[in-house]
Amino acid sequence: MDGIRTLSNEVSWHNLVWFPSRIPKHAFCLWLAIRGAHRTKEKLLAVGVVQTADCVFHCGKVESVEHLFFQCPYTKNIWMAVFTMCNISRPILPWVEEVLWMTDHSRGHSLPATVRKLALAASVYHIWMERNRRSFKNHFLPVLEIIGKIRQDVGWKLLTGGKIQRSERYQSICIN
Ligand SMILES: [Zn+2]
Repeated sequence: MDGIRTLSNEVSWHNLVWFPSRIPKHAFCLWLAIRGAHRTKEKLLAVGVVQTADCVFHCGKVESVEHLFFQCPYTKNIWMAVFTMCNISRPILPWVEEVLWMTDHSRGHSLPATVRKLALAASVYHIWMERNRRSFKNHFLPVLEIIGKIRQDVGWKLLTGGKIQRSERYQSICIN
C-alpha cells in the first residue's frame, strides 16, 4: 500500500474516486480501499479480534486489501468480467498498480472514462458487501449475481445521469 499512500499526498487518484457522477456509497468504499482502511481479517487477526485471517471466498489465502482487490480467484473472475464490459484487455495488476492504471486511463468525462470509474467503484463496493454478507450472515451469492449488480448500478447511473448518448463510437460499451 505504500505506493498509494505516498501518492495520497498528491492525491493523483482524487478524480478516480470523487468524480461528479460518482455513486456516493461506492466512492466512499473505494476511497477506504485505496487508503487501505477496510478492516480486513489480516488486520483483525493482528489485533486479536478474529481467530483466523482466511479469505471468506475459501481460496486458502489471507484476506488483505491486496488479496480482495483482485487477486482472489473469486474476485478476479468478477474483475475480469468488468474488464470485458469496459473494453479493457490486459491482465489484472496488483492493487496499487491497478489503481494507478485506472487513474491514468479514466481521465476526463468521456463515456468510457466514466464507465471505468463507475465500474471500479461498483466492483470494490459489491465485493466488500459480499465479503461482509459471507462473514456476518453466512449468505453466499454466486459470481454472476455480483457481476449483475455491478452492471445494474453502472447502467442505472449512466441512464439517470444522461451519460448514454446515441453514439456509434461508444456503441460496444453501451451494449455491454
Ligand atoms: Zn480469496
